[in-house]
Amino acid sequence: MSDKRVCEPPKFRPNIGDLVPYVPGKPIEEVEREYGITDIIKLASNENSLGPSPKAVAAMQAAIPQVGLYPDGSCYALTRRLAAHWDVPADQIIVGNGSDELLHYLGVAYLEAGDEAIFAHPSFVRYASAGVLNNARCVAVPLKDFTHDLEAMAAAVTDRTKLLFIANPNNPTGTIVTRAALDRLLAQLPEQVLVVLDEAYFEYADAPDYPDGVAYVRQGRNVIALRTFSKIYALAGLRVGYGIARPEIIWALNQVREPFNVNSIGQVGALASLDDPNQVERGRRVNRDGREYLYAACERLGLPYVPSQANFVFLDALKESRAVFERLLRRGVIVRTGDIFGLPTHIRVTVGTPEENARFVRALEEVLAELA
Ligand SMILES: *Cc1c(COP(=O)(O)O)cnc(C)c1O
Repeated sequence: MSDKRVCEPPKFRPNIGDLVPYVPGKPIEEVEREYGITDIIKLASNENSLGPSPKAVAAMQAAIPQVGLYPDGSCYALTRRLAAHWDVPADQIIVGNGSDELLHYLGVAYLEAGDEAIFAHPSFVRYASAGVLNNARCVAVPLKDFTHDLEAMAAAVTDRTKLLFIANPNNPTGTIVTRAALDRLLAQLPEQVLVVLDEAYFEYADAPDYPDGVAYVRQGRNVIALRTFSKIYALAGLRVGYGIARPEIIWALNQVREPFNVNSIGQVGALASLDDPNQVERGRRVNRDGREYLYAACERLGLPYVPSQANFVFLDALKESRAVFERLLRRGVIVRTGDIFGLPTHIRVTVGTPEENARFVRALEEVLAELA
């Protein structure tokens, strides 16, 4: 046997080559290796620096000896607990390996070649993947004043439109669409359009006109609300998200679901997290104070920022964001650059603990002085 290649590798579907890989926030370990520094803070992926609920940690520790068994594929206990929590029937809930997985299932279940998926730009990049993977036409509608332009999105709808994605609050800008704006949009959409309301930051939003996606589901609308344990509940590493929609939609997603899509420790952690409302309250409070602190710093430094309803702030550093990013990294602070979102002088910074926020602001001041 020679080790020479004797044949060409099989051809993958052409649209696989069109997929734009998700660029994750730089992991702490990588920055340690590359820059030879320690004591790094990651404010790049909108994780909750306060960490998970101690109740969740204890429940997960107790569950570890059982990991030899497959998880409950139906997420029976968690689904019922979520149903009680949001006051919806259990057949209106599906749990995913992160809400990311549910975005993938939405594409597989609803998009045929030539169908259209509409989403905003810049917004969460995973919506485009759901479209591209299924040979759908992706229609990216630019934000207006950093906010979803629902009128332009409605105008983009055709008889081939199947999915319309709205991140509310939006990532990376932190803006929301209001209840009135969403009501207007839903009133004019044709029945074949499913609105995907990605509410990954639902628990952080506190504007009085912020709409609750589940209310639309209760009204029998073609809406799926996606929520997650990755953000305020600080369980991102376990990958647990969920969707709430009318039973027919949940049925379709279950048809394409992997049989054991949610791991057992994640199910236990999520369940226990719901029994600790303090976790959410504390997360909200620390975040609200942190946002105010960051706004004040921006004002002092003369940097424009977008007021946020989430746990991150999108600000204009008024310098090339790659350069700002690199120099922040050397000071052990990881953020996101705006260039990946098409805004080359913006950065997105996650609201951290008071200490982390102060360290970010100090580092940013030094960096801006260096670049002046
Ligand atoms: C973080 C994030 C998610 C991902 O959530 P997972 O449940 O961790 O997959 C989904 N949508 C948006 C807009 C996000 O920012």
